[in-house]
Amino acid sequence: MDVISPIDGSILTTMAKGTAEDMDAAIAASRAAFEDGRWSAMAPAQRKRIMHKWADLIEANALELAVLGVRDNGTEIGMAINAEPRSAAATIRYYAEAIDKIYGEIAPTPDGILGLVHKEPVGVVGAIIPWNFPLMIGAWKLGPALATGNSVVVKPAETASLSLLRLVELAHEAGLPDGVLNIVTGEGTVVGEAMGLSMDVDVLVFTGSGGVGRRLMEYSARSNMKRVYLELGGKSPNVVFADAPNLDQAALVTAMGIFRNSGQVCVAGARLLVEDGIHDDFVAAVIKQAKSLKVGDPLDLGNQIGAVNSARQLDQNLSLVETALSEGGEVLIGGSKILAETGGFYMSPTVVSNVKASDALFQKEVFGPVLTVTAFKDEAEATRLANATDYGLAAGVWTSNLSRAHKMTRAIRAGVVHVNTYGGPDVTVPMGGMKQSGNGVDKSMHALEKYVELKTAWMAL
Ligand code: NAD
Repeated sequence: MDVISPIDGSILTTMAKGTAEDMDAAIAASRAAFEDGRWSAMAPAQRKRIMHKWADLIEANALELAVLGVRDNGTEIGMAINAEPRSAAATIRYYAEAIDKIYGEIAPTPDGILGLVHKEPVGVVGAIIPWNFPLMIGAWKLGPALATGNSVVVKPAETASLSLLRLVELAHEAGLPDGVLNIVTGEGTVVGEAMGLSMDVDVLVFTGSGGVGRRLMEYSARSNMKRVYLELGGKSPNVVFADAPNLDQAALVTAMGIFRNSGQVCVAGARLLVEDGIHDDFVAAVIKQAKSLKVGDPLDLGNQIGAVNSARQLDQNLSLVETALSEGGEVLIGGSKILAETGGFYMSPTVVSNVKASDALFQKEVFGPVLTVTAFKDEAEATRLANATDYGLAAGVWTSNLSRAHKMTRAIRAGVVHVNTYGGPDVTVPMGGMKQSGNGVDKSMHALEKYVELKTAWMAL
């Protein structure tokens, strides 16, 4: 299949369009590798050495990986280099270190009984990855899945496969035995569906849209009832109180919290909720920041915002802004396709004010550079608005009142609540969604739980 570069709309290269049979063959290879123990039974110290070597190779090839990814998915290179290869290497290292620190348990039994709890790999893990941060999100799944001794089949997104292909190649250069980690490119509705319906995949881990998440649960029910862990979208609130410690800083971070990577960030702060008294001044400050952002060729370090991933995504962004207009929203800046002469897919940072909780733009994830603005009068209304969507992925709260910060953190139903900042949590803390933003977590030691089975041994002594 053609790989279209979002930078200029050209055909960058081609890649294999996998079939359901290809997927089944990859799953069979993973199963064979798991059963013969070439990885699952390898000494932990040796597995750890291989994963560290893999992280070394990712770091050594960081620029190549970042550029490859940018040409494929359009993220600005300044962000991609840190968010993609460097963050993937840090994640692989974190889980490499965990390999020889995961213990089973001995139960508090009566005399004459020994109760052991073993932690065993689940078997074959299927991982389906989105296009916005293929290496970072890929490493969030591959790191803990491999660290716990599983075999893995990974399916990258159609519009962001190149850097993940290279990442898997580097795993083999690092000494990962053949068959343990397989990658199959192709269409979600073909190879992704085959993975979902396979009788031989034990756990399915996914990051992507809610619509596909629902399908994966159906596939599981129709096949072997495999465990399904979903990291889905969001429409995250960013709540700014008049007593925020530094409103200029809050405006800058608010703008970057929605516009970086053209808004194609699952935790993007897409709904600005701002206290009445500072509404006009704060929105003006955000607009000033948005106007200062240079949008263009993501490989040019002078640009702060790169390309939208695909023509389809860009059309979708524009049509949601159109809907907002018909509902009474007011587009203060942006709202249009720009740089059409390049042949690429670019959208101007967009701010829409006057958005009500019942509006589609308040409720629906755009996954584009579109910020909605809604005013609130007090803490109670801010909390109600923050929680007024089906999502619960992330949130931001800006205040210098310590009690309010803690109360809001507890009251907002979201997997991560940022206070006086937005974005940046590293691999040491869990990342997951509440409500329809998903189940289970990536990152931290908690992510390992998705990839192990607990087995009890009960022995009469
Ligand atoms: P998507 O759901 O369209 O695609 C994600 C993956 O699923 C791709 O690899 C795709 O090929 C595959 N797929 C598509 N149809 C399938 C099917 N029928 N069966 C199996 N696999 C199938 O999402 P996207 O457009 O790649 O990514 C954007 C979405 O992902 C947004 O909603 C965003 O919020 C979400 N996202 C969430 C997180 C998070 O951690 N919660 C992170 C990044 C992105």
